[in-house]
Order: sequence, then C-alpha cells, then structure tokens
Amino acid sequence: MSEAIWSEVCNGLEREIGKEAFRHWIAPLTFGGERGGVVEIQAPTRFLGQWVERHYARDILTHLRKAGRNVSELRFTWTRERAESALPASSTGREDAASPAGTASRYARPLPTATLKPQFTFETFVVGKPNMMAHAAARQVAEAAGDNSVVCNPLFLYSGVGLGKTHLMHAIAWELTRNRGKRVIYLSAEQFMYRFVQALRSRDMLAFKEMFRSVDVLMVDDVQFIAGKDSTQEEFFHTFNALIDQGKQVVISADRAPGEIDGIEERIRSRLQWGLVVDIHPADFELRLGILQSKAEAHRARNPEVKIPEEVLEFLARKITDNIRVLEGALTRLVSFAAPLGTPVTIDFARQCLADILRAADHKITLEEIMRKVGEHYGLRISDLVGPRRSRAIARPRQVAMYLAKAMTSKSLPDIGRAFGGRDHTTVLHAVRRIEALRAADARIADDLEYLRRQLES
Ligand code: ADP
Ligand code: MG
Repeated sequence: MSEAIWSEVCNGLEREIGKEAFRHWIAPLTFGGERGGVVEIQAPTRFLGQWVERHYARDILTHLRKAGRNVSELRFTWTRERAESALPASSTGREDAASPAGTASRYARPLPTATLKPQFTFETFVVGKPNMMAHAAARQVAEAAGDNSVVCNPLFLYSGVGLGKTHLMHAIAWELTRNRGKRVIYLSAEQFMYRFVQALRSRDMLAFKEMFRSVDVLMVDDVQFIAGKDSTQEEFFHTFNALIDQGKQVVISADRAPGEIDGIEERIRSRLQWGLVVDIHPADFELRLGILQSKAEAHRARNPEVKIPEEVLEFLARKITDNIRVLEGALTRLVSFAAPLGTPVTIDFARQCLADILRAADHKITLEEIMRKVGEHYGLRISDLVGPRRSRAIARPRQVAMYLAKAMTSKSLPDIGRAFGGRDHTTVLHAVRRIEALRAADARIADDLEYLRRQLES
C-alpha cells in the first residue's frame, strides 16, 4: 500500500471527524506499511496510539476499505518509550536546586513552583464522558511535552469551578517532573503576577525572565486573573511566546474559553487559541457517582469502620450536581461525623448531616426560572424573551434576564446565548455590560434587579 492511499484515508477522516480532532489525533500518525491484511500505524507516543486505537480504529478501517484496501486488522505501534529509556536521566529542577552552593549555576535557585497536591494525580482522576477530552489532552501533554510532532501547544483547559482543572494540571506536573525529569513551573496567574511585581520592585527582571524562559514546561492556572492587569499580561505574553517559539510546552487553565475572557488583548487571546482548547463539562450523574465511589474507597482505607452504602452515594450524586469539590466535601463530612458515632450511614443520616449543603444544592437557580420571573415582572412571556423581536419593551427585559443568568448561575456566555434563542455570546456579553452600566445610572433598573434577585434567591 502506498503513501497515496494513506493520504486519501486522511482526507476522508478529516472530513468525517473534523479539522480539530484530525489535527490533534490523526495528523501525528504515520503509515507503517501493510502485510497480509494487517496495516501498521505508528504513533509518536503510546498514549496517542492507544487513544486512536480505542476511538478511531473503526473509522480508519472504514476509510481504508473505502480506498479499496482489503484490510482485516490495524496494528498500532509507538516508538517513544524505547527512545526515552535509552536517554540518560536528565536533571530536574529539584536536583539543580539541591546542588552544592559553590557551583553557582544559573538554575541554582529553586523554581518558583507552587506546591503540588500529592493526591492530584492521574491515578485518582476519574474519567467520564464530560472530562474525557480534557483528560486525554492532559495525558498527551504529560507524555509528549516538548515533542513537536504533536500539536497540543499551548494546551488550554477550561471549565466552571470545581470540575477538575487544577487536579489535571497537577497530574501533568507530577508526571513530567517525577517520571520524565522535566523542569516544570506550575503556578497560578496570581502567583505569576506576584513574582513579576516582586521582580520589578527588586530590579531583578533579568533573573525573572531567565528563570521562566529556562523551563521545559510552563503551567499557569486560572489565567483569567490577568485580565485587565496590563503589564502582567504583557510579561506573560512575552514569556509565553518565548517558550512556544522554542517548542516548549505551555499549559493554561481558565474558568472560561479564551474568546470569553474580557480584558485581555486580542493578540494574546488569539495566541491562546493556537494549540488545543478543551473544556471540562459539568459532571453527569455517572461521573459524579464514579468519583464518589473512588473517594469512598480512599476513605475506607483510613476509616474502615465507616461503611457507606451505595444508595447513599447515589443519593449524594443525584442531589449535588454542579461542583465536585462540594460533592467531595459532603462525603468527607459524612465520614467524619459517622466515624466517632459508629452510626450506620443511611440516607436519613446524610440528610441531617448535610442539610445546609443539600439546601444550597436544591436552590440552584435555572435559566428557565430566571426567564419565568423576569417575564412575570415585566409582563412578558418566555417566548418573547427567547424570540427574535428587538423592540425596547422586550429587549431590555431580555438583557436583564441575561445579566441575571450570568450573575446567578454558573452558565457560560455561549450557554446563555443558546438558551436565549440561539444568540451569540457577544450579544450576552453586551447585555451584561449594558445592564451593569444601567444599574449604576438608573435607579429603576437597580430596583428591578434587586427585587428579581431576591425573588430568585428565596
Ligand atoms: P477546578 O480547578 O476546576 O476549580 P479542582 O481541580 O480543584 O477544580 O477540583 C475540585 C475537586 O474535585 C478536587 O478535590 C478534585 O480532586 C476533585 N475532582 C474533580 N474532578 C475529578 C475527577 N474527575 N476525579 C476525581 N476527583 C475530581
Ligand atoms: Mg482550580
């Protein structure tokens, strides 16, 4: 079989699975030949090979057959592990930091890495549909950072709060420092700014720049924090560019998509979108239950006397839906309350012990509720709010509803736009800004907002 057929297969695949997925998963593969109906496909890393095998093998086979090949089997191979184990162990930041003082190495100072939580590893990260892509991308980076054959740079991870961004970032950092001997700086955007300001103050900018540019991998958590902070933004951008240009891996997280972060410069925004942008969706019931089961097991190791029946885990997974941190907190509290009492953990016990958390979870405000209340207040129907009409009598209440949706739920701008009759996220952003301005200038709007907020919270 010739390369030409592989490229025909690639064209077909690209159309089928989309440009982005193609670029990320298929483009790095090379065709390794065919013998007796078995086609070998080479992947740059084991992870990528296994992922493609699991998710795209059938598509690849289909397209090979379409191209007229009588293929019975695909075999995926990867070469990197072998190559890596042959390399001498490279030095890590930690070893450099520990080198004896006299040897004034440029790296003698420890890297300003934030503390990594020992429990935030890939082993403890439960994978489900909502976080599958993010997890895959994180694994990919952890395995192949700095390998130019894989287009994953920068990796931009985003999601609402408590859905596992920091956990994945730490997992990547652990893997890279511990098992791959890479020099990694992981910090929050806030810490980045702090370091930067400190360096300015102590006139130590050169050292600052050198330190950041000397790493193999830079990871910045919660990057939305630099929005509106112009000189920090600028410095971040230069650091970022310098590293990317050298083929160093950069990993960024934020609480929203690059396009939605207000107050950052256009050129930075667009560079953030260059690599791979993936989001973690809110956990579904299965994932919530899976996480609870895995955490319950960890608790059992420490408190073997506390038994938490499956039905209690299911109860929690059903009730607490929007934030995994809260879900975990609920379980921890159950265990710590039940352990000294020796009480069996029942659903009733959980109800009592978690009353406040459950109440807060019950009171989650939905977009429908907001539309209903706003509609009632202004004498409109929901269909008016989501419909196309743009007269002021409808447009203003619609903006109010969008504003409340942004302020009172964890929905993203695109989510809100979709719910309001498929509007663009920029329309929502405009509404939010408009109402914010009016709230300051127009007492009637301020009163309306206050009233509606109280209605929705009650
Ligand atoms: P974020 O940074 O997105 O706000 P975190 O990474 O801090 O969220 O996650 C919040 C908590 O939920 C952490 O304790 C984390 O370990 C846990 N968590 C989130 N997702 C998962 C998962 N898929 N498996 C196991 N634990 C998870
Ligand atoms: Mg976080």
